[in-house]
Amino acid sequence: MKIIDGKSTAAEIRAELAAQVASLGAEGIVPGLAVVLVGDNPASLSYVTAKERACAEVGIRSFPHHLPAATTQDELLALIARLNADPAVHGILVQLPLPKGLDEDAVILAISPEKDVDGFHPLNAGRMMLGQRALLPCTPHGICILLERAGVRVAGRHVVVVGRSNIVGKPLANLLLQKGADATVTVCHSRTPDLAEHTRRADILVVATGRPNTVTADMVKDGAVVVDVGVNRIPDATKKRGYRLVGDVDFEGIAPKASAITPVPGGVGPMTIAMLLANTVEAARRCR
Ligand code: NDP
Repeated sequence: MKIIDGKSTAAEIRAELAAQVASLGAEGIVPGLAVVLVGDNPASLSYVTAKERACAEVGIRSFPHHLPAATTQDELLALIARLNADPAVHGILVQLPLPKGLDEDAVILAISPEKDVDGFHPLNAGRMMLGQRALLPCTPHGICILLERAGVRVAGRHVVVVGRSNIVGKPLANLLLQKGADATVTVCHSRTPDLAEHTRRADILVVATGRPNTVTADMVKDGAVVVDVGVNRIPDATKKRGYRLVGDVDFEGIAPKASAITPVPGGVGPMTIAMLLANTVEAARRCR
């Protein structure tokens, strides 16, 4: 069984991006990412901190905008409008979820599609679905690149995706279906009767439910490749920070059966951030 190491693959990608940033720098372009965080959700704060740190590592300039939870929709939209117009900002990231009372759909729609480095704008989602050039959503794109770099072929294989969210399951299924990727895809969700019947038929099983142990060893075919997207904080008094991270699958039970599996942490998470940086560099490049 092989552990698919997202941490080292993401580090490789960051090194490649640092070289690209350096050559853009020679043309006088410094890629810039605006990072907008509203409120003080601890998980969001830690994601945003990791993203800002990763930007610094590859030479992307980050512009942090940490706003109070009481920020109004109009104030947030006014900030997005300023960032859309700012030539030093090539990418705009609004960390989700937003506090109650703020309309996420309207905020995403307000981001210029050329600066939509999360790939959530309907124009980018639509372009992706049509197989046109688009800024791709970071987690699904990161999973595709991780599989590719780990030498896992998806073409002609049966991929089962558990979860149908707009940020993971649906776009991932879409990317895998595109000509060139050529997977056969099944998508499951909470209303799927007999989930195990589907997961057992997967050559490659991707799980993104937000629920620990959604998939256990009896639900996995021998030799399958398992991608665990989940990030769940489980209270753990033995840890300094009071919790540990687990994914959505029973890693210990499944690992002996799988031919390859992504760990949590250190699997999909670092790839998501690497793809955010890649999109920012791409957005800056397109500005030339
Ligand atoms: P959502 O809550 O938006 O979606 C979860 C999906 O899983 C839904 O489609 C839901 O079905 C389905 N689901 C929930 N329970 C079950 C079940 N028991 N059986 C089958 N399907 C089920 O979550 P996200 O897609 O945003 O995130 C999923 C996980 O991935 C989370 O743990 C999240 O933290 C993690 N994540 C990790 C990222 C990373 O970079 N590593 C990035 C983004 C997310 P239904 O639609 O019917 O409700």
